[in-house]
Amino acid sequence: GSANQEIIYQGVELDVNKMKVKFPTQLFIDGEFVDADSGKCLTLVNPSDETVICKVQSASARDVDKAVKAAQKAFEEGEWSKISARERGQILFKLADLMEQHKEELATIESIDSGAVYTLALKTHVGMSIETWRYFAGWCDKIQGATVPINHARPNRNLTLTKKEPIGVCGLITPWNYPLMMLSWKMAACLAAGNTVVMKPAAVCPLTALKFAELCVRAGVPRGVVNIIPGSGTVTGQALSEHPLVRKLGFTGSTEVGRTIMKSCAESNMKKVSLELGGKSPLVIFEDCDMDKAVRNGMASVFFNKGENCIAAGRLFVEESIHDEFLRRVVQETTKINIGDPLNRGTAHGPQNHKAHMDKLIEFCERGVKEGAKLVYGGKRINRPGYFFEPTVFTNVTDDMWIAKEESFGPIMIISKFSSKNMDDVIRRANNTEYGLASGVFTKDVSRALQFAEKIDAGTVFINTYNKTDVAAPFGGFKQSGFGKDLGQEALNEYLKTKTVTIEY
Ligand code: NAD
Repeated sequence: GSANQEIIYQGVELDVNKMKVKFPTQLFIDGEFVDADSGKCLTLVNPSDETVICKVQSASARDVDKAVKAAQKAFEEGEWSKISARERGQILFKLADLMEQHKEELATIESIDSGAVYTLALKTHVGMSIETWRYFAGWCDKIQGATVPINHARPNRNLTLTKKEPIGVCGLITPWNYPLMMLSWKMAACLAAGNTVVMKPAAVCPLTALKFAELCVRAGVPRGVVNIIPGSGTVTGQALSEHPLVRKLGFTGSTEVGRTIMKSCAESNMKKVSLELGGKSPLVIFEDCDMDKAVRNGMASVFFNKGENCIAAGRLFVEESIHDEFLRRVVQETTKINIGDPLNRGTAHGPQNHKAHMDKLIEFCERGVKEGAKLVYGGKRINRPGYFFEPTVFTNVTDDMWIAKEESFGPIMIISKFSSKNMDDVIRRANNTEYGLASGVFTKDVSRALQFAEKIDAGTVFINTYNKTDVAAPFGGFKQSGFGKDLGQEALNEYLKTKTVTIEY
């Protein structure tokens, strides 16, 4: 499509806080907005007041097939397959510029759809997404192979080189916690590498993905290159992961669904797969920490984005000698958190993403109390419309408790004590989990911090900070937190294949 053409779609226009926002509610397939084959819809609810926002078309297995075939055609014979890598980069830069121009609108849509606090949505959900597009746009014309000295008697009349090629049609499936950012982390690397894509956002908040589809048309992304098809996991997601023309599946979500997807990928056509899954990340706070920093970051490690943060610290280990002081200060600060309408500029903590998730958090806390953990603060739904849940603090948690093992994905701090006489012991406890996404340590002792970084079995280690992800730094988990990286140069490899060419001359 040309960049200035009128884009025709069925959609919704809303007045939110004196801002007009407009987005499509149809599937985006082969450069056009179309109705789902099944006529089925998803009903979207605003988590801050439980009102219905709108209905969105829900893709059937036949819609998935249509989208995959459009992506296949675009990959093989479309404009995308003919333009240079540099031109491809220019289109992605243009897309980032358009996202920048629409950033307030995108942040508003993200906020009403996911419950993210507007100011955070603007900075992180949307802001980091734009940065991600620019970062990968810059990679397009810098993807290169190598020349390889192969072992031969001299004179060696052989030249061996590697070429980095796109894989083909990629399926992307993302969760609901950072809808636009999870789309961007995967899709920007995927398109920079020259692939085409069929993307399924989470069923509960697909709106920014659909707005993004509109921006793709405006940016001049050729038809069929990006296809966006909201729908349920078991219908749409399943059909996408099983499709024989999809050659790569990039997934972010729970470990349980990741396992199902890996099976489908293996059984259908052995497609390449990368999985960013759950976590129960440990944060270890030593006596010699900077207490102000440890309190501030300890809280952010749990409460950031109302706990709906994959790298959230699910277990805090606090050294005995400072435990009471740390707890007192954390609780004092927690009582001050400004909870309320996520669109208000002063709000720090919004509603949980959807009802089922909030209900899960209520049960999580009840179970913690039942098994003997000490509930120091919160633990309940807030008595007002919307899925508001109190920031919560548990202490006296022991490693064998269920709440010490399971991911809550909510604003629930879980504190245990440790004695630093034996540093290996707390590291052993921190590693005693099937997850391995992130970790953190607070100490002024450099050698202790570096020993921790060496021995911890997690894809990310934060020292005297937390949540500091950057588009240039690879991100991904170990063990059952999955494999494959988003972000950084390494992410490109997830969407490329290496071909080895040997010439005898
Ligand atoms: P989820 O696994 O329930 O769903 C993720 C996506 O998979 C959704 O789009 C869903 O519709 C789809 N899906 C569900 N069943 C499917 C199936 N059988 N086949 C194909 N697709 C299917 O996860 P969620 O509840 O949306 O997100 C929360 C989880 O995501 C948490 O465990 C969290 O830790 C994880 N997460 C991980 C990262 C990371 O980078 N490691 C980032 C964000 C979230």
